[in-house]
Amino acid sequence: MRFEELELQAPLLRAVTEMGFEEMTPIQTQAIPAVLSGSDIIGQAQTGTGKTAAFGLPILQGIDPKKKALQAVILCPTRELAIQVSEEMHKFAKFLHGIKIVPIYGGQEIVRQIKALKSGTQIVIGTPGRVMDHMRRKTVNFNDVKMVALDEADEMLNMGFRDDIETILKEVPQERQTLLFSATMPQPIMEIARMYQKDAIHIRVVKKELTVPKIEQYYYEVRPKTKLDALTRLLDMYSPKLSLIFCNTKRQVDELVSSLQARGYFAEGLHGDLKQQQRDRVMNSFRNGKTDILVATDVAARGIDVDDVEAVFNYDVPQDDEYYVHRIGRTGRAGRGGRAFTLVIGREVYKLRDIMRYCKTKIKLQPVPSFDDVMSVKAEKILDHVHQVIESDDISRMIELVESRVNEEEYTSIEMAAAFLKLAMGDSVDSEELKKEYDDFGDTGAEEGMVRLFVNLGKKNNIRPGDILGAIAGETKMPGRLIGSIDIYDKYTFVEVPREYAAEVLDRMKNVKIRGKAVNIEPANRR
Ligand code: ADP
Ligand code: MG
Repeated sequence: MRFEELELQAPLLRAVTEMGFEEMTPIQTQAIPAVLSGSDIIGQAQTGTGKTAAFGLPILQGIDPKKKALQAVILCPTRELAIQVSEEMHKFAKFLHGIKIVPIYGGQEIVRQIKALKSGTQIVIGTPGRVMDHMRRKTVNFNDVKMVALDEADEMLNMGFRDDIETILKEVPQERQTLLFSATMPQPIMEIARMYQKDAIHIRVVKKELTVPKIEQYYYEVRPKTKLDALTRLLDMYSPKLSLIFCNTKRQVDELVSSLQARGYFAEGLHGDLKQQQRDRVMNSFRNGKTDILVATDVAARGIDVDDVEAVFNYDVPQDDEYYVHRIGRTGRAGRGGRAFTLVIGREVYKLRDIMRYCKTKIKLQPVPSFDDVMSVKAEKILDHVHQVIESDDISRMIELVESRVNEEEYTSIEMAAAFLKLAMGDSVDSEELKKEYDDFGDTGAEEGMVRLFVNLGKKNNIRPGDILGAIAGETKMPGRLIGSIDIYDKYTFVEVPREYAAEVLDRMKNVKIRGKAVNIEPANRR
């Protein structure tokens, strides 16, 4: 459905057009007509689906610009979100006249807010705590309020704002419209809806529409020890402009941030323990690209609206199916493409299968890029840049310098270019140790996610598949059913085991005997 099909005032339509909105999102299609017709609504949809416009446009339509009194209150969980919603509302109101919208949150000078409230503000967007503050001081008057919106209601409850919200709702005249938006609908939200709304229309954007189909989704099977490496390799390989990395706990956020910083990445963390001021600082430096990696918990990242996130990483597999959708929805926003990467250890792959089923989406298994992959991509990028410089810059002076050197020395200009490339790629190129650490087993010719191991016993030693299976299952914690193909030849055998167990299998099988013969086991040669 298109915005023009709505009974919206021309100035609002003009603003929406100028913002580049073409058609409405599903939550907007359902919510806006309902709100315009005067109904209370409960709107449930994931982050990034345009809920602000879903309540913001009909609220603006309902304001009487001649009346210089507070007419609508929007409550948001955090200062960050209040500012974001306020900015979006200002854009919607660009062509309307006589409408004053003010954000009200803690940490900002209260005198200034009081002045703004006195001078004919019609729409307030505030955090519950600060709005309560003004109620106590009697610096806000709700007598003419006709509309109240609760944005990210579940989050406000999580943050302990339930009493404040109820106090505010009780203070607003009964003759009003109450709009409640929430990503999830736990019991307490339903209670608030029952107590403070009238015949609310429940709008739920069905799960199928929750996925963001433009996003390429991949997963990688890793071991706990190689998880960080896999992440940094993906970061190096794709070098996304902005990356959002999700962890399941605050502690993991802190640990990962330290590890990334130690490796020279510009990463910062965001979680519930940070003070508002720190939060603002982190968000600002992410927004303007000073920090290109933001590591966050689900709750902390909720509602953050940054458009240029090119990649989302699930460092931990999300605990909740719905979280997966929320997380990956942070990239590929506003029609841009994006990528989502999930790191999976062992059995977590089953959780990921559930997610795929729930989201009706395909998450493709990919091998973690090898050291050589990362190096070639890095080199490719530098060489592309060199190409640009040759095309468009004046490099005649440099040519002279290179020429005279090459004439004096024994080497060719190709060798010189190669040396430059090495310099530009940094120290990481020739560290053999790093290469080894990077590559675990490389491509041993096994199936995706498996490593092929060479065992020095075969048909001549009367080896049967059960012997190999029994030995491995007996010596390691790996369940026998995870063992892949077993190919027995005359003098040796190849057996495939899941990548994440390969190191353990190699370690445990070193001193084992099968049919009285000492076993020698090692990764099959790389392809
Ligand atoms: P939510 O509150 O559901 O997380 P927002 O209201 O913050 O989502 O919207 C997310 C982004 O999508 C914003 O940048 C917003 O300007 C943009 N947006 C909203 N509605 C539309 C639309 N109909 N078409 C294109 N972009 C939209
Ligand atoms: Mg929102």
